[in-house]
Amino acid sequence: MTNEELWQSVLAQIQFNVSKANFATWFRNTKITSQTKGEIIVSVSNSFAQEWLCNKYQVQILKVLRSLDKNIRVVNFTVQSEEPPLMKRERPTLAPEIIEPQLQFQELKLNQKTNLNPRYLFENFIVGSFNELAHATAWAVSEKPGQAYNPMFIYGGVGLGKTHLLQATGNRIVSLFQEKVVKYTTSERFISSIVEAIKNQTIENLKKESGKIDILIIDDVQFFAGKEKTQEEFFHIFNALYQRQKQIILSSDRPPNTIPAIEERLRSRFEGGMIADIGSPDLETRLAILKTKCEEKDIQLKDDVLEFIASNIQRNIREMEGALNRVIVFQKINQVTPDVEAVKKLLRNLIVSPKKATNFKHILKTVANFYDLNKEDLLLATRRKEIVKPRQIAMYLLRNELSESYPSIGRRFNGKDHTTAIYACKKIKKQLEEDTTMFTEMNLIKQRLYSEF
Ligand code: ADP
Ligand code: MG
Repeated sequence: MTNEELWQSVLAQIQFNVSKANFATWFRNTKITSQTKGEIIVSVSNSFAQEWLCNKYQVQILKVLRSLDKNIRVVNFTVQSEEPPLMKRERPTLAPEIIEPQLQFQELKLNQKTNLNPRYLFENFIVGSFNELAHATAWAVSEKPGQAYNPMFIYGGVGLGKTHLLQATGNRIVSLFQEKVVKYTTSERFISSIVEAIKNQTIENLKKESGKIDILIIDDVQFFAGKEKTQEEFFHIFNALYQRQKQIILSSDRPPNTIPAIEERLRSRFEGGMIADIGSPDLETRLAILKTKCEEKDIQLKDDVLEFIASNIQRNIREMEGALNRVIVFQKINQVTPDVEAVKKLLRNLIVSPKKATNFKHILKTVANFYDLNKEDLLLATRRKEIVKPRQIAMYLLRNELSESYPSIGRRFNGKDHTTAIYACKKIKKQLEEDTTMFTEMNLIKQRLYSEF
């Protein structure tokens, strides 16, 4: 068997044992470069994939190889980049005080035509079980825009990769289909352009312009809530594009059925394609993400330092990246590689112990925010439906997240009796078992509870 035939047979078998998304991430651009004396060398495109394959798949790959050829004893991985690494920048001589602005500057380098940030790519988007479906959906959409899933709707908590994934999809479409017009916008910008157009009576122009778009990407559409005029105009733009099989890509911090104050017809449009969520990454994945970030930023940190960051900054990926940047700046300024003790001091105010992670006020605020209420509303003695449910949820969280006693929960809500608290907790528990919308809402609320403070 030639190297190529051998590797194709291996891939064909591995494909059955790993998810599509993982396969695409880790096995793309791999090949066997040599076979000598029972040693197989597989080349991969970056050191991160090398480490990942080595840690997670070496045994599996070796097994398959040996089932094809008994003489094979070991498999090793080597990095052979075909294209120059995208984000590598040497800046050893920079003065420390300009590093941070530099890091930020990188964020701002947008493509003028598409508004896309070239930094957000599939290549540096780590896939784990928490975002596997979203990744696979986005990948499929980038392969066949307008045909695979339309619209594509990605939701998840803050700092977990929605923008990255949306932009990666846009960037990949631009590189695969040069003729397609791709536009990325945030819902805020979209709303203000509609408001502006209405004011200047140029809404027809705006519609005509948006009719030229092949791929429309709108980030954070939860902000459409309550903006009726925007929703109406967007509905028309959506339909016009959709009918011509143009791809629409949306993100939100929650699924369409839980966005308050959104028109029914728009909601059903959102629900018409593929809805995929992004959850919270586990420790292993957080570590993997940190390692890619280090590579992008061309920086080396000790393994135990990375492990410390990944295990202590758990709330979301953006915050973890912020912590990493802090460590990098420290390293540049002091010209030493920090150890765990130094990093612990450096990140002291970012690390929250789980016990302190939430409290009554915070629960109240988070629940109220989620349902578009003021936190005082939840304390009102009212039986209004839109308040009763959030109040019961707040009680449930006090009981389950903070282990408060029923009498104390009752007292917090306007001196209610402990039986009211018991009733609320039972009721929510039952709904969680029976009603999937409630289940989703509760998860999102909890995610917010622990990802924002
Ligand atoms: P969101 O839009 O959900 O608030 P972002 O997409 O802005 O989150 O992600 C926050 C930061 O975390 C970005 O710098 C992004 O590159 C990084 N990030 C998020 N998810 C991943 C991932 N799966 N792999 C690598 N980096 C990620
Ligand atoms: Mg975002």
